[in-house]
Amino acid sequence: MKTIYADNAATTAMSKTAIDAMTPYLAGIYGNPSSLHSAGQAAKEALEAARGKIAALLNADPQEIYFTSGGSESDNQCIRSAATAGAAKGKKHIISTAFEHHAVLHTLKQLEKEGFEVTLLDVHQNGVVKAEEVKAAIRPDTALVTVMFANNEVGTVQPVAEIGKVCREAGVVFHTDAVQAAGHLKIDVKAQNIDMLSVSAHKFHGPKGVGALYCRKGAPLMPHIRGGAQERNKRAGTENVAGIVAMAAALAEACASMDENAKKVSALRDELIKGLLKIPHSKLNGDVSLRLPGNVNMCFEGIEGESLLLLLDARGICASSGSACTSGSLEPSHVLLALGLPHEVAHGSLRLSLSEYNTEDDVKAILKAVPEVVAYLRSMSPVWEDLEKGKIPHLI
Ligand SMILES: *Cc1c(COP(=O)(O)O)cnc(C)c1O
Repeated sequence: MKTIYADNAATTAMSKTAIDAMTPYLAGIYGNPSSLHSAGQAAKEALEAARGKIAALLNADPQEIYFTSGGSESDNQCIRSAATAGAAKGKKHIISTAFEHHAVLHTLKQLEKEGFEVTLLDVHQNGVVKAEEVKAAIRPDTALVTVMFANNEVGTVQPVAEIGKVCREAGVVFHTDAVQAAGHLKIDVKAQNIDMLSVSAHKFHGPKGVGALYCRKGAPLMPHIRGGAQERNKRAGTENVAGIVAMAAALAEACASMDENAKKVSALRDELIKGLLKIPHSKLNGDVSLRLPGNVNMCFEGIEGESLLLLLDARGICASSGSACTSGSLEPSHVLLALGLPHEVAHGSLRLSLSEYNTEDDVKAILKAVPEVVAYLRSMSPVWEDLEKGKIPHLI
């Protein structure tokens, strides 16, 4: 059975370009970039070339790019740095949203325990934050605003440039988790007034366990991992040279074909949405147009998302009910709850996230499987029976 991979928001397959770029650094060029001999310098050159490439793609300067182990580490370091710098000036208020990735939310939870006050903004029914609400929430003691570029579950794209402008005018540090956006949406840290930004290679066909952060010159950055002097004393540990080289190659490739991919992938997405909305008592979550090219997030009333996933998996379709981090728990997604969905509805969610490797045939197979599986699950569901008999009201 052919596997249809529709979980690209969780991770992506590595591109051939990324694998080819990485291979020499796994086999032949194995020096430590901190070594002064020729083997080390060969690795160092590759590292700095990758830094230059990534900086150019984000419209940053190479000195503003730091390599990390991925999106989670970048988020942790950016947020903690801005919080610590703020606290030193008596500013202990942070603004974010209720539907951030857990790498952000759990860091903020910890900071609350350490005496920070966190305001989580409403993301409204469509999953989009309003820049004027960010502005209204800023106080004299606000140290940081952190709002994601695009949401990983419902795919909604935030008005990052507007939020950046509001923050710059107020003199507040603005961080954005751009893990879902990098390689998929246009990022320009200067034009979008971004002070700090997180990316992760494995969300754009690069390898897992490697990422980067951008920190604008003058914005506060503190080491999260202490040790050697790597990354100009901001991130200790021997660099993942092969991974970093592959990340730069993957990002360059993704950015070069961004428009073409977006056109292809959004057409597949729209076909999926149109087809899935034919299922009775179904709804699309998140804004229809302000969304990532590859994101489909639906709720089907009267079923459990987990059962739907298992049955789709049995048919060779890899999907998700929300984020990879929450799957396995019976709690509905915090993202869907933040959009105001009732628990009962949020439980029946399905996220299909496509990449340019998906095909028209994949969409056809998904559009055949999902309605059949939903109908099957409903036929066995006591809740569905009650809904159909009018004992409890339909919510969607
Ligand atoms: C995947 C993801 C992360 C975590 O990145 P890792 O590299 O897996 O640590 C953070 N934020 C968002 C929005 C993500 O989609």
